[in-house]
Amino acid sequence: MDYQSVIDKIRDEVRELWGQGRVADYIPALAKVDPRQFGIAVATLDGHEYSTGDAQVCFSIQSISKVFTLAMVTRHVGDDIWDAVGREPSGNPFNSLVQLEYEQGKPRNPFINAGALVVTDRLISLYPHPKDAMLEFVRSLCGNDDIYYDKEIARSERLNADRNMSLAYLMKSFGNIRNDVDTLLDVYCHQCAISMSCVDLARAFLFLSNRGVNPFSGKQVLSVSQAKRLGALMLTCGFYDESGDFAFRAGLPGKSGVGGGIAAYIPGNLAVTVWSPELNRHGNSLAGMAALEHFTTDIGNSIF
Ligand code: GLU
Repeated sequence: MDYQSVIDKIRDEVRELWGQGRVADYIPALAKVDPRQFGIAVATLDGHEYSTGDAQVCFSIQSISKVFTLAMVTRHVGDDIWDAVGREPSGNPFNSLVQLEYEQGKPRNPFINAGALVVTDRLISLYPHPKDAMLEFVRSLCGNDDIYYDKEIARSERLNADRNMSLAYLMKSFGNIRNDVDTLLDVYCHQCAISMSCVDLARAFLFLSNRGVNPFSGKQVLSVSQAKRLGALMLTCGFYDESGDFAFRAGLPGKSGVGGGIAAYIPGNLAVTVWSPELNRHGNSLAGMAALEHFTTDIGNSIF
């Protein structure tokens, strides 16, 4: 398969979407990003890499980090996490409070903010230095020791975290948050501010297409079953209240973030990542969604 030609063509096609979405502005530091950027990268399990456009530019991975923290927690606590977090799509915006009250502080899934806050809370209980541990985990997955936290974005998000604090306090009132909320928000805002390029992210997602084994180090990061479950959750819950539409259009497990990134993969084959900062009304990258739809259509391969 000539992946390079496929992604070069997609890069040219999605330009017509520029100007139709909006960069996330509820975190002021994110609003400063130049909207007209697009990168795409493919990493295959047989060791090839392809990229084009702004694929080497680092961006804020935001909610894509929820995949990494869930992997870190499930490998330690196993199924216990599912007592605290559900596994169903929410059908609500990523930061909604409504469902949480009805469902007594148990978030629908680990990829909406409430669920991710519970996962990060457990991570804080597991690791004495959670922020260092997260960076180390992500660096080991992609083999790049330069992955860093964008401190300006972390600070900006922390200063504008009223809604996430509300979620955390509401869940704490139901006994579903164990640590101090300020500590939790500090760690959560840092995980969202991890800065990576499409190329780094494609490498970091390859372990999921490799039955949980990091293909670079040969280490089993997750069991086969845990990797399967993470993929299933991405397929059903990875795109906020647009998860069904992404599954319909691209047919891949994936996770988006409001920084405009999307990381997805085909089991046993490859990881593919895109970044374009303009978002649609659901908070997903407008050009990124279109690019991945084109990608699986053009290569004639998806999980279906
Ligand atoms: N930092 C974001 C928040 O919690 C993450 C949102 C996202 O990418 O979905 O508001």
